[in-house]
Amino acid sequence: MTYLPAADRYAGTAFRRCGASGLVLPPLSLGLWQNFGGNDVFETGRAIVRRAFDRGITHFDLANNYGPPYGSAEANFGRMMALDLHPHRDELIISSKAGYDMWPGPYGDGGSRKYLLASLDASLKRLGLDYVDVFYHHRMDLQTPLAETTGALAHAVRQGKALYVGLSSYSPERTQEAAAMLRDLGAPCVLHQPRYSMLDRTIEAELLGTLDDLGIGCAVFSPLAQGLLTDKYLGDVPADARMGRSRSLPSERLTPELKARLVRLNAVAQASGRSLAQMALTWTLRDRRVTTALVGARTVAQLDHLLDHAASGELDAGACAEIDVLLAG
Ligand code: NDP
Repeated sequence: MTYLPAADRYAGTAFRRCGASGLVLPPLSLGLWQNFGGNDVFETGRAIVRRAFDRGITHFDLANNYGPPYGSAEANFGRMMALDLHPHRDELIISSKAGYDMWPGPYGDGGSRKYLLASLDASLKRLGLDYVDVFYHHRMDLQTPLAETTGALAHAVRQGKALYVGLSSYSPERTQEAAAMLRDLGAPCVLHQPRYSMLDRTIEAELLGTLDDLGIGCAVFSPLAQGLLTDKYLGDVPADARMGRSRSLPSERLTPELKARLVRLNAVAQASGRSLAQMALTWTLRDRRVTTALVGARTVAQLDHLLDHAASGELDAGACAEIDVLLAG
């Protein structure tokens, strides 16, 4: 049956400006790193993507190697575009990336012009698109001259295969250098993608200020720390949780100290009338320099629960102070 998105899909979304650019993004965006690959149930992922769009999520974040297997999340999203979302292409911000290992040999990894441009072509093919909205270099590659990497990103923009350029997990210094080069090349960096959550506040020290100075937006990844900042790790870990299913979240990560901290954070969340996951998102978005939080979801119910975080409004100063103490301790 033809998919008709909810007519009121934009009613509840307070879009946020991406740095000093003309682009705005929803507070929550959907990432397809996990749960949308060839080993997952296509119809479940499709239902999540439809629900996301129905509730005002316009931004979908991918990368060449999302799956597993590599490439399969893009291929599945391409099918969803063809089946459901293609008529709405101009309402969507679709991003992809290259920078981690993708294919065998020396040209399937890193930051070379050879790798980035071939990878973007392959991503577009899998996605069934003429262009992505944002093309990121996925991580720093100190072996490749930065001018080569930024030159390749700017070339993708000139080719019309990407509308905007992004950088992921770049240090503040490297971001400054790359941003200056990209500006000179006429393809300014619009988005940076770092990790940020209550369990990893690294970017507060410098990167957020650097991005603000440069007029670059910030799309933070893993705001739930891959699910640690939800109630599923407070007791016995459910069998279907990411921990135990994915190498990205090994069980050693859940130390007794971390678990005790999660329990205390959960008490603050409950006292403020939210779940831990909802508090984690409200906390992540409290700083206007954060443009959007890239969340993952394995079910429609999970996504709905995350989107409902907005109903409780801002965190009050008392709760923020309590969280600061708990995270510092
Ligand atoms: P999150 O921190 O949001 O973790 C998502 C996971 O949390 C879900 O898969 C689910 O795990 C759990 N979860 C979500 N909602 C709920 C809920 N309501 N109740 C209970 N558990 C819930 O983000 P991700 O780590 O998935 O990353 C998000 C996106 O960020 C990626 O898809 C990708 O686009 C981007 N990213 C970018 C990186 C980069 O290098 N640039 C690196 C990593 C991510 P479970 O299966 O346990 O239920």
